[in-house]
Amino acid sequence: MNIHEYQAKELLATFGVPVPAGHAATSVEEAVAAAGKLPGPLWVVKAQIHAGGRGKGKFRELGPDAKGGVRLARSIDEVRAAAKEMLGRTLVTIQTGPAGRDVQRLYVTDGVDIDKEFYLALLVDRATGRIAVVASTEGGMDIEAVANDTPEKIETLTIDPATGLMPHHGRAVAGALGLEGDLAKQCARVLSQLYDAFVGTDASQIEINPLAIVGDKLMVLDAKVGFDTNAMFRHKDLAALRDLSEEEPMEIEASKHDLAYIKLDGDIGCMVNGAGLAMATMDIIKLNGAFPANFCDVGGGASKEKVSAAFKIILSDPAVKGILVNIFGGIMRCDIIADGIVAAAKEVDLKVPLVVRLEGTNVEEGKRILADSGLAIVPANDLGDAARKIVAEVKAAA
Ligand code: ADP
Ligand code: MG
Repeated sequence: MNIHEYQAKELLATFGVPVPAGHAATSVEEAVAAAGKLPGPLWVVKAQIHAGGRGKGKFRELGPDAKGGVRLARSIDEVRAAAKEMLGRTLVTIQTGPAGRDVQRLYVTDGVDIDKEFYLALLVDRATGRIAVVASTEGGMDIEAVANDTPEKIETLTIDPATGLMPHHGRAVAGALGLEGDLAKQCARVLSQLYDAFVGTDASQIEINPLAIVGDKLMVLDAKVGFDTNAMFRHKDLAALRDLSEEEPMEIEASKHDLAYIKLDGDIGCMVNGAGLAMATMDIIKLNGAFPANFCDVGGGASKEKVSAAFKIILSDPAVKGILVNIFGGIMRCDIIADGIVAAAKEVDLKVPLVVRLEGTNVEEGKRILADSGLAIVPANDLGDAARKIVAEVKAAA
């Protein structure tokens, strides 16, 4: 689960992290009022979307010469103009993909005079199973390019969970950033605050870019924070920060039914049980020259209702031109799956081809239910057969 920059900064501030003052706004009037509460004479008006690269982003509706999603304003009138131009528009950045994101919210914050920008991030390093700290002197808007062209300018260290963050980590990061004296102390302090925030909120990512030198202070000017969804039950207060408008509507619906659903770009809907089978199903669809429209995993112990919900979610995507159900009845019985498929197919008035491959417990009973349903369900015997059949059916229907 990701949150907006303004929420991340408010959260990090509770751990003592130094951030400029600011206020969120959802209308031009609110943005103007927010600016009025700050001292000025420099403000920054920032589009709040769940993606980075806003500064260099472009608004789809404005020309290529228009400014991006992070704008300096030197008067309240400039704040008003910036807010007017950004709200309700679509911001396309290196991280949003070509579709971009609607800007529904702004953050109006104190503009500061930056001497130098650094990059500092904490994330979970899967290879070592530890929290990793990533630091670079090349902070600012082009960290992707730095990682690509000059990876030696990015320092990484990992933290032993048995000891937690130690003073030497703070010194190492300050050293990597070339900081000395009081700035080095501030750097160690910020790192320790970020580490506490990371562990305390079960974060999966805290990315500060830039961490900036402003006069004699270090300040966090941009923060991207994501949490481990599996730990959200421990943080009921953080769940309130979720912005559903930033998420794929079908993925939200799926999460209500405890289904793992990921929208993809192709046209074949996949209903499977288990992530391994999902991967194999997507691979074999590709092998046969088509692309999956999604990844929908009903899990090991799905009920008839869950299967039915999964079906409806898959079909609510207009890109889906055919469905491949590939289920292994291990814990789950094939006859229950078949009942769910038949019930859902009848309820939604299925119009796209449906290929079903069942294997495992009560498979014969499951196949009989499908055959007796009176529905145009194409049975398949194995994974290869299933993939060939759905690809052929979708091509024939096109
Ligand atoms: P993004 O990473 O999405 O482009 P940032 O918040 O990092 O957005 O803003 C882009 C750039 O704008 C920063 O690298 C920094 O140079 C400048 N900036 C951001 N916030 C402020 C601020 N409060 N005062 C002055 N400059 C800022
Ligand atoms: Mg940034």
